[in-house]
Amino acid sequence: MNDRSIYPLSQPVKGAGGKTGSWRTAKPVIDLEKCSGCLLCWLFCPEGCIGKNDRSIDYAYCKGCGICGAECPKKAIVMVKEEQR
Ligand code: SF4
Ligand code: SF4
Repeated sequence: MNDRSIYPLSQPVKGAGGKTGSWRTAKPVIDLEKCSGCLLCWLFCPEGCIGKNDRSIDYAYCKGCGICGAECPKKAIVMVKEEQR
């Protein structure tokens, strides 16, 4: 058994609908000063696009669903409206 075999999340890849970042109307921004490192956002993100180690967000795949912000117990994630594309 290697590390990948017990990794709970799949990695984001471009699917039939393209990169899911193009769906977004608002993007999550994490305030690392408030973040406790609980990793709930990483666990709940349906796109697997939050970095486990640094909580960076891959905006190419983040679809702006807001689940990460809703789950964050520290209210460290706010959704910021995207500029018109
Ligand atoms: S808004 Fe949705 S897709 Fe984007 S990082 Fe948060 S949970 Fe993941
Ligand atoms: S859910 Fe909130 S407190 Fe927990 S790791 Fe994510 S940003 Fe940090």
